[in-house]
This record gives sequence, C-alpha cells and structure tokens, in this order.
Amino acid sequence: MIFDISPPISARLDVWPGDTPAAREVLCDISRGDDITLSTLHATVHLGAHADAPSHYGRDAPAIHVRSLNYYLGPCQVVHLPASRDSLITANMLKEPITAGRLLLATGTFPDPERFNQDFAALAPELVEFLHQRGVMLVGIDTPSVDPFTSKELPAHRMFLKHDMAILEGLVLKDVPPGLYELIALPLKLVDFDASPVRAILRSTAGTAVPP
Ligand SMILES: [Zn+2]
Repeated sequence: MIFDISPPISARLDVWPGDTPAAREVLCDISRGDDITLSTLHATVHLGAHADAPSHYGRDAPAIHVRSLNYYLGPCQVVHLPASRDSLITANMLKEPITAGRLLLATGTFPDPERFNQDFAALAPELVEFLHQRGVMLVGIDTPSVDPFTSKELPAHRMFLKHDMAILEGLVLKDVPPGLYELIALPLKLVDFDASPVRAILRSTAGTAVPP
C-alpha cells in the first residue's frame, strides 16, 4: 500500500509569503491546434513537499544536488503529535520509542496547503539534538518550516546543519496511521539550488510478507 504525502502542485498551493507561487505557462496546446502540448513551470523550489538543502540555512553549506540520496529513501517512522498552534514540539512529547533513521512528525497545525497559516508548530532545537543522538538522519514535518514563522535565528535549522541531518517540509500526513514505512522522497538534481520539490510517498511494509 502506498500513501501519497505530497500536496497537489498548482497555482492554488500557497507558498511562504513573498516566495514565488507555482504558475504554468502554456507554450503549445493541442486543444488550440498545436502539434503538442508544452508548458513551463515557474515556482519556488520550496514548493509543496520539498527537501531543504543545507545551503538554505548555512553559509557555504552543501546545495541539494550533492546531498546523499540515502537520507530520502529507506525505513521511516510516522508519529502523530497533536500540537497547539504556535507551540514548540519538545522531546518529552514523544511517547513512542524512535526505531527508524527517518522520522515524520504529524502536528496537524498546517491543515490546508492552499491556505497559509503562520501559527504552525515548530521543533525545539533540543528535540533535533535528541533525535540525532538516537540515530535519526532525516526529519519531515507537515508544516512549511521546522522553525516558527517569525524566527530569525532559526535554531532548529542550525541544529540540522550542525549534525548534517536532512529536512522535509510541507508533507501531508493527516491520513497516514502512525507506524513504520519505507520513505521515498527523492529531490531533483538541481545544481546549486537551496531545495527541491519531492514526490514524497510512504510504502507500507506491514502485510507485504509473501507466503512461501
Ligand atoms: Zn524549505
């Protein structure tokens, strides 16, 4: 079973205030009598479900095209942490043991990808440190940022940088039951870019045992 955890990309998808929303420019159109349909995408690379590169939050840090694909592919745990708006998620809110190197946190504080709300929950930097100590290499979240909307210091991002961990943002996790999955969320090989959209999916590993 596959869970698609990416929001649809269209002009209706809301982006960070001031960033570039998605727009489709149609160059050729079969329905207008052209031989083919051909279009151009204009958009931020922080679009919908996306992977941040360290260069987004660190000077001289790696861009997205040099990041190991290992971050974005493999065993992954989904945890639901119903958080309050405008709150910081801390390690003691995690009730279950962390058993995979990739962790997706469903906060429920950014419910509509087509309506940007600024009061989403974010990660306490101590939580990122805690997860690093438990072998987590990637954290994904159902909000537009791992830091609060108004944060200038970006303490959670800095902790990801310090420990060379990876970030996925803008995921849609409300329909995914908690548990263990295989994550597949590969960034495009966009040279020198600070992020890339991903088609993020979770493959259920339960019930896939083939009878002898
Ligand atoms: Zn981002």
